[in-house]
Amino acid sequence: MNCPVCGSLLAEKELEPFLTARQCSSCHGLWLSSTTYLVWVQRCPTDNTAMPPVIGAEKGDYSSKLGKDKQHRAKLCLDCGKIMYPIRIGFGLPFRIDCCSKCTSIWLSAEEWAALKQLNLHNRLHLICSDAWQTELKRRDSAAIREAILRDKLSPEDRDKVEQTKLWLQNHPHRNLIVSLLLDQEEK
Ligand SMILES: [Zn+2]
Ligand SMILES: [Zn+2]
Repeated sequence: MNCPVCGSLLAEKELEPFLTARQCSSCHGLWLSSTTYLVWVQRCPTDNTAMPPVIGAEKGDYSSKLGKDKQHRAKLCLDCGKIMYPIRIGFGLPFRIDCCSKCTSIWLSAEEWAALKQLNLHNRLHLICSDAWQTELKRRDSAAIREAILRDKLSPEDRDKVEQTKLWLQNHPHRNLIVSLLLDQEEK
């Protein structure tokens, strides 16, 4: 089996007890087969819940070390041959991991396992690759953008009013009616 980045040979490496990966002898990237990984995840004591990712919660300085050998060039899965996609992680981590679109096997570059481990995300790679996780990241991005626009355009008093109105509307039995009336008003 050869490295999808530099073509050197991959050798077996015990990443954790009961988790064997394959590591490139040259760039030190890691190949994690989904079958091996999922077996390990099930046997390791872990919080398997899909904790919502926190954007911008930087822990440690990874920026100098990480993501440098990820030129985001297309890689093919070493297990099934399908294309791999760079997947965002959240938690303020600046790099993406390559995940197979079919079998969810994963390619990590040299420093990424340690960075994921430090944030206790190394046992949640299968969740990070899931649609639910990625959708949540997008939802949080949109919320952050809306938040930034509100901060930029509105006074603190107006922002308070927006927050209060949101709370009031949230549980209102005629919420949809009120919203449609408000939008009608705006268009006239
Ligand atoms: Zn390599
Ligand atoms: Zn695959």
